[in-house]
Amino acid sequence: MLLHAFVPATRANGPGLRAVIYFQGCTLNCSGCWNRRTHKFEGQEVAVRDVAQRFEEARRLEILEGVTFSGGEPMQQAEALLNLMDAIREEAPSVSFGVFTGYTEAELATGQYLTRPKATPERKQDLWRGVQKLLDFAVMGRYDETQPAMEPLRTSWNQRLVLFSDRYQVADFGPQLIEISVGSTGKTVLTGFPVLGIPT
Ligand code: SF4
Repeated sequence: MLLHAFVPATRANGPGLRAVIYFQGCTLNCSGCWNRRTHKFEGQEVAVRDVAQRFEEARRLEILEGVTFSGGEPMQQAEALLNLMDAIREEAPSVSFGVFTGYTEAELATGQYLTRPKATPERKQDLWRGVQKLLDFAVMGRYDETQPAMEPLRTSWNQRLVLFSDRYQVADFGPQLIEISVGSTGKTVLTGFPVLGIPT
């Protein structure tokens, strides 16, 4: 899979303390997208089992409630996403899963989305069914800068927070946060919702 970044622990991307796995690559080109560096399908190709292993290592250091998949567009690597979810669940059956996707539920359910590698519409429907079965929540729909919103996890009004299991309720999703972590080498990682722009 093409990986953009791995954040081992954050409270800005869903309920509780969560790892965030950022997929590299997105063709949706929402106007005003603040993470354009994730758009090109190029860069770090990583085996799914290695990403699952990084999650296991993060789980040894922190009590993690779940994983949020973000990007880029995770559903444009749906095959890898599903394999990754299976691999993580095998080792950690109680973790919760969430995803940020620019697609609507209707687009995914009918296989109207692009994947890398290419897949038939029937295969894409199967892939979404598999992912959906494992998900606890999803934030769905393109970012639209003309409809700014300050809702939990949603930055434009057209986006929907969809609950796929009974693990969470809407009240479990707190206000938008921005988190900046500084590692021991001085490297900084920004995650969350920099609605006023990225700090320089
Ligand atoms: S789906 Fe997400 S990453 Fe892709 S263009 Fe839209 S906001 Fe940016």
